[in-house]
Amino acid sequence: MSGNELRRVRITAVHMPRLEWAVGREVSLPSAMLGSAAGSPGVTSLDLRVIPPPSLNGLAEDLRLRAAFTTQPPVSKKLPFNYQRVPPLLRSYIARQIGRRLRARRAEWSRYPDWPLDLSADFVNDWTSGDELLPSSSRAPALLTHDIESPEGLRNLVEMFLPVEEAAGARSTSYVVPAGWPLDHGLLREVIARGHDIGVHGYDHSNRTAFLDAEERQRRLTAGRQALAMYSPQGYRAPSLVRTAPLIDDLGRYYRYDSSIPTSGGPFPVFNNGCASVRPFRIGRTLEIPITMWRDGSVRFLGYQPSDIGEMWEQNARAVAAARGVVMLLTHCERRFSGNPEMLDAYRRFVDFVRTSPAFEWSTPARIAAAVR
Ligand SMILES: [Zn+2]
Repeated sequence: MSGNELRRVRITAVHMPRLEWAVGREVSLPSAMLGSAAGSPGVTSLDLRVIPPPSLNGLAEDLRLRAAFTTQPPVSKKLPFNYQRVPPLLRSYIARQIGRRLRARRAEWSRYPDWPLDLSADFVNDWTSGDELLPSSSRAPALLTHDIESPEGLRNLVEMFLPVEEAAGARSTSYVVPAGWPLDHGLLREVIARGHDIGVHGYDHSNRTAFLDAEERQRRLTAGRQALAMYSPQGYRAPSLVRTAPLIDDLGRYYRYDSSIPTSGGPFPVFNNGCASVRPFRIGRTLEIPITMWRDGSVRFLGYQPSDIGEMWEQNARAVAAARGVVMLLTHCERRFSGNPEMLDAYRRFVDFVRTSPAFEWSTPARIAAAVR
């Protein structure tokens, strides 16, 4: 036992207003720290009114990066063929079968970060240092983003999603696969003309870029950015959220921000992945804007119904706003994800919830990146 392993504790009371949001939440902390701060590594709750803030430089960063990268390729990378060629419906079917079984094994894949929301890094940041990148505002920025995987997704974006967003006064950012299928530049130009943003979603979505050697990785990053350069992409999102430290570090040379790390990744793309933070942070030269909201693909794979998902998004967004984070929602526009009447209805209700609540204001990842710099 090094004392570096994490233990989950519940925060029962706090000593300063900036930590009020953490009361009642569980966070994960190193057992050695609990031992020295609370007198025993085995405590299950913390009353911060009676514990002096520990001086643990670097702990927030340690908690953000501990599970931030997917060092193992996901299953699809190990397949001897491009899994994009598996018919989408079959792919979804297989994923759902796996998902149902996974839901029952939650304890294995949500050790750290906890799922569906783990705010351990933000808790430590507020407890020990108090500096943060976000401009102080009483409203949480709400960012609507899509990963566009196919011509169908792009069409659905324009026909189904943009009207919902525009009716609520919002503008979204869509990360488009640059080299996986023939791009419809007419539609992409229309997205831009209507005031929305385009970002880059990997290269050909074969989940390989993160694991290639530096030269080949940079060749793909360069070609991917080039293919969409006319839309001035400001940000990147890794396909399937497969990301390694060298990839994330490279991205700072190509983009103003990256958004490939979930707060709580759950079982996808690998067990126990995420940054346990809902606030933008830097990794080396790259500004990371975490994906703070439950992803449509994951929750559908786990067997949740569209009617539950809208409700979950609202809870999730409230918790993110309370912790002074950014509400970063990722949906996919393909029919098998959110481009169907039931999910689109959940999406519409969520967008309306954000529009009518004083806790949020619309923003975009590019605006957040510009404000942070
Ligand atoms: Zn994707």
